[in-house]
Formats: sequence, structure tokens, C-alpha cells
Amino acid sequence: MNKIIILDENTANQIAAGEVIERPASVVKEMVENSIDAGATQITVEIRNGGISYIRVTDNGSGIDGDDLEFVFERHATSKIRRIEDLDSLATMGFRGEALASVASVSHLEVTSKTKEASNGNTLKIEGGRVISIAQAGCPDGTTFIVRNLFYNTPARYKFLKKDTTEAGYVSDIIERLALANPGISFKFIKNGQTHLHTPGNHDLLSTIYSIFGKDIASSLIPADYKTESFTLSGFIGRPEIARGNRNSQYIYLNGRYIKNRIVSKALEDSYKTRLMQNKFPFCVLMIETSPQSYDVNVHPQKLEVRFANENAVYSLVYHGCENALLGQSMIRSFEPGFRERRHEINQVSKQEEIQVTPNIKTGRTVYFPETKQESLFEEKHPAGGLPKFIEKISKPALVNKEETDDAEKGLNKEERISEDVKPFRDSGPAVSENPAEELLEATIIGQAFDTYILLQRGDNLYIIDQHAAHERIRFETLKNRLKKEESFSQVVLEPYIIKLSSSEFEFVMSKLAEFQKIGFDIEAFGFNTIILRSIPDFYDTGFSSKDFIEILDRWSQTGSKQTGISEEALFMISCKGALKANRVLSKEEIRGLLESLTAMENPYTCVHGRPIILTLDKKEFEKRFKRIV
Ligand code: ADP
Ligand code: MG
Repeated sequence: MNKIIILDENTANQIAAGEVIERPASVVKEMVENSIDAGATQITVEIRNGGISYIRVTDNGSGIDGDDLEFVFERHATSKIRRIEDLDSLATMGFRGEALASVASVSHLEVTSKTKEASNGNTLKIEGGRVISIAQAGCPDGTTFIVRNLFYNTPARYKFLKKDTTEAGYVSDIIERLALANPGISFKFIKNGQTHLHTPGNHDLLSTIYSIFGKDIASSLIPADYKTESFTLSGFIGRPEIARGNRNSQYIYLNGRYIKNRIVSKALEDSYKTRLMQNKFPFCVLMIETSPQSYDVNVHPQKLEVRFANENAVYSLVYHGCENALLGQSMIRSFEPGFRERRHEINQVSKQEEIQVTPNIKTGRTVYFPETKQESLFEEKHPAGGLPKFIEKISKPALVNKEETDDAEKGLNKEERISEDVKPFRDSGPAVSENPAEELLEATIIGQAFDTYILLQRGDNLYIIDQHAAHERIRFETLKNRLKKEESFSQVVLEPYIIKLSSSEFEFVMSKLAEFQKIGFDIEAFGFNTIILRSIPDFYDTGFSSKDFIEILDRWSQTGSKQTGISEEALFMISCKGALKANRVLSKEEIRGLLESLTAMENPYTCVHGRPIILTLDKKEFEKRFKRIV
């Protein structure tokens, strides 16, 4: 057996570095977090070669006293924990006093720092954990760390680094996450001599988002604000058109720290249900605040994963917070070509524009909350959302002016609120109207294109509505509401249907007799694996066949055999089946009826599969294309 030895300090640091410092991005994270802790309002990060050969972090924070400069590289040197009692509140924030010791042990490090009180600063050089020199230096207040040749003395670590561009991407991710969490700090990120990100540091989250992701994203956001007994939710969620193919654009923060959490993502995505197509994930920057006692962060070494004590409470917070935000918004999409999907393009945009946006963008808004579901006469006459035969007025969502309360809270005056900077966001946003119901109902009906799309005109807008998608949405919401109200759907048929099933189908039906009854099917067993239907739902305007029953049965058993009640997927199918088809000529009266029903829906913007129902094309767009204007 080998003899037991005590590791020297430096070797211990190198081993510790293995845990804390994995790659350049981890160095940046530790350094920037230290700068934030030091009260900096400006932080610049510069890297070369993905940070492998060079990282610089400069801040205007408190600085480090000359006498302490050497000391901060000692393992367990920290100014942040004084007593064991502090551990409770601070340990979760990652103060362990080993970051600097670790970085210094695996790189060539140089730190220059000056406190406000001191007349001069100091520069210290350390190589592989050994102090090389310390000297006085003339420098501004604050601290600059330069880390060169990361992992030069730990080849095993070095070997695991990825391509420069990949490492640079990780660094960029870290800075974006930290910048979003700290809108009061101006972050600048310089990569190979070029500025890639510059946030204003004006305490305004929307301006910060704008400077990171660009105008297209910033103009497609919906504010989310929600409060429950023990949680607060704030931030922004993306309109459906900026949804992405993965979850990388979900920025979720818990008490200011970036986290990943399955429950939060699920709640967010569920709130978009039927507004997004499959495999599309919403963009969000969401801040959750709660007491540190209500979660546990020690499940993952990088501390991204957290476990909530009460997962239901978190789910409900995020679900309702986001759903409310979505319901208060016009979701009519602009006809213009899609959004930039690729991230580097977006960065490019924000780089070129490099706008310093001033505060208060967030507050200059009016939102409306739909009243409780409106009933239209049409629903009574045509319980399944068939085509209405006459015109009828519907009540409109009530306008609530939220500006007043918001501004009162923030102590802002009107001029501050409606600053000029607000304009570009509003004017260029795809949202056409604050009150789409009114807009659509007041529009002139031009007619149909291809017997499939309804064309409307109002002011400078041309609206294009997919008639099938619209009717499908109407049927879906109507059915759901009727189910909720436990209305009877049953309609007795003169000649009962006798249907032969497989044994598993038969079993499924028998286990759900009461549930089938709720949607209008009166079913009895009728011999071996056979059933008899004596009544069917009233939403079949166009005739019913046993095939329709089998289809519902299939979908229901595939998607909701365990839950009580019919599955949403089965309802989608029913809604889609009976809905008005494309390629059908509609009279103006029919179009009018469809519009009235549509505008009374909770979500008139997307069909149940998440496809858009309404698009709009601006008169300017015509003029541009016909070269009347340039
Ligand atoms: P921790 O952050 O856990 O305390 P670190 O090793 O990251 O441990 O830092 C050690 C100490 O060095 C900090 O507690 C702080 O006092 C000091 N320090 C590090 N970076 C800065 C900075 N940018 N400005 C001021 N003080 C700093
Ligand atoms: Mg630290």
C-alpha cells in the first residue's frame, strides 16, 4: 500500500479547481459574481480564444485593500462569511472562498485593484498559485482580473476544453444570464477585440433584454406579474411567434440566481398549450422570488437545479402568471417574414444597434383583462359552434388602465413613462391592436380568398383569417365551456348504433361509461365486446357514423386513459372534425357570425394545434412592394 501523505496547499487547490473551475466560462462566472458582490455598476469581460488564452474582468466595485490582495488567494479566504450562522443564508449563494484560490492555481493570474479610500492601487501576479510579484499601481477604483493560459499546468483539464468558438459561446451564455439577473449593472462583453454585448444598466429589464436579444425579441414580449401567498413572479414571456425549437431561451431565476427547473418549464409550456405548435418552446425571462426556506439548491454541483418544497405552489404560480399574461394580449400575427431564429444573427443586430435604452419602457403600457367568458346568442342556438345565422352584438373585454397603479408604485411621472424610447417597441411590434375584438368586428368584410381565407379590412390593416382554424377554435372553447358547466349534450337517435369493438376498447368504454355520458353518448353493453349507442352528442351537425365514435375512443384512450374526463386531445379532434372546412364558400352573414363567435373566445389567435388563425398585412407593406414608397 502507498504511504499516506498530506497534499501541499497548491495541489489541494488544483484538485478543488477541478470542482469549481471547469472551463473559461466558470472563471468568468466566479469573477463576475465577485464583482457583483463588490457592488459594481459596470462590469467588462474581455476574452480571447474562447477565454483559454485570455480573460479580463474589470469592475468599478469596492476594490480589494492592498493588505488583503495576497490573502484573497488563500483557500477559504472570503469576506462574505463571518460566523457559522451566516452559512444558512450564504452557503446557498456559493460563497466558499475557494474560487480565486482555484483559478490562481491553474493559470497565470494578474489582479490590479484599488479601493476608494486608498491613494493608489496594487498589482499582484501569481503563476500556478505562486506569488511572483506585488507592486503599487496607478489605477481607477475597482478591480481588474486577468487570467492567462488557463489549465496550462493541468493537461488533463486542458484536454477537455472544446473549440474556442464553443468556449466563447459558454462565456457569452454566462454573461447573458448574469446581465438579465442584474439590470442595474451595465455589462460589456468583448470577444476577440469586438464588443458583443452591452447592457444599459438602467435597472430596466426590458432594455436589458433588448440589448441582448435585439429588437425582434424585445418587441414581442408580454409582461408577466403575479403574486401568491409565498411567491412572486415577474418578468416577460415571448409571444408565440418567437418560440424556439428548444428550451435554451428560457431564462428562469430564483431569488436572482439562474436556475433550470422542470416544474417551472412545464408550467410555462402548459400555459401556452394550444397557442404553440408541437416542439416549440416559449421564450421567457422570469423572476421568481420566495423565501430561501422553500427550496433546496444542493442537488447539483453547478447549482442550476433546485428542488422546491411545494412543487404544486410553484406550478400554479407560473401557470397562472403566464396564462393571465397571455390572455391579456392581442396575438394577431403580422404577415411579415419570420423572426431571426439563429442566435448569432440576433447578437449581431444588438451589436450594430448598440443602443443605450433609457428606463421606463416597461411601464408605458395599457393591458386589458377579458371579463369572465361571454356568452353569445349563437352558442345557445348552435350549441356546438355551428354557423350562426344572424348578427348579434357581443360584449367586449373591459379596459383596465394598469399604467396608473404601476406608475404610482414606481413614483414615475407621465413624461418619464411615455419616453420616446418606448416608441420603437410599440410601433414595430407585431401586435396590431390593443383590442382585437373591436378591430375585427368593425372591419369591412371584403370576402374570401380561395374559399378558404376570410379577408377583412380596417384602417390600414388587411386581416386574413383561416376559416377552418377559426371555427375549430370556436368549437373547442365552446365544447370545453359546456363541459365545465356540465351541460347535457345528449341527443336521442331514432335508430341506435350497434358497434363491435376489440376487447381492450370494450373495456375502456365500460370503465368510462359515466364520462362518455357527459359528452352525450348513452352507451350500454350489447353482447360480447359490443355496445349500443342510444344517444349521441349534439355537436354533430353533419351526420354521425360509428366511425366518428371509434375515432374519439381511439384518441381518448391513447391520450387520457388515466385522467378523469375526456382528454384535451380527444376534444381537439372533435373540434377539428366538425369544423368548417377549407374550400367552402361562405356568405357575408356567415362570415359575420364566425367573426362574432371568434372574438368572444378566450384565445381567438391560434387553433387548437397552435397554428395562427389571424394574420395581418399593413397597407405600408403593399406600398413598399408596389414601390410607391421606398
Ligand atoms: P468568495 O466569493 O466565496 O468569498 P472568492 O475566492 O471568489 O470567494 O473571493 C475571495 C474574496 O476576494 C472575496 O470574499 C472578496 O472579499 C474578494 N474579492 C474577489 N473579487 C473581488 C472583486 N472583484 N472586488 C472586490 N473584492 C473581491
Ligand atoms: Mg466568489
